[in-house]
Amino acid sequence: MIKQSRPFFDSSTIPDDLCPIATALTPMLPGDWRSMRPVVDRAKCVKCAVCWLYCPVQCMLEKPAWFDVDLATCKGCGICAEECPHRAIAMVEEAA
Ligand code: SF4
Ligand code: SF4
Repeated sequence: MIKQSRPFFDSSTIPDDLCPIATALTPMLPGDWRSMRPVVDRAKCVKCAVCWLYCPVQCMLEKPAWFDVDLATCKGCGICAEECPHRAIAMVEEAA
């Protein structure tokens, strides 16, 4: 039998509510280096959740009547703005 130099990964140490690709546990969040940020126009948003579906880091947040962005984990890729069928998301430059 091969002896392990390290113990096997213990999945029981992962919190139940942890998204597998969430970045909230890393010390360097994308909000610190992102160059563009998505801004949701609440008047245009129909809460269809397409942005939520396509966001690669799952940082779209469900609000009572719209979807908004968790700007701490958003990396500014613009996919949500590209995919929004109602053009309710605009990408704007981060202030210097
Ligand atoms: S895809 Fe656009 S319209 Fe749909 S929930 Fe997201 S922001 Fe709102
Ligand atoms: S810009 Fe990219 S990372 Fe940020 S909310 Fe949109 S899809 Fe997600």
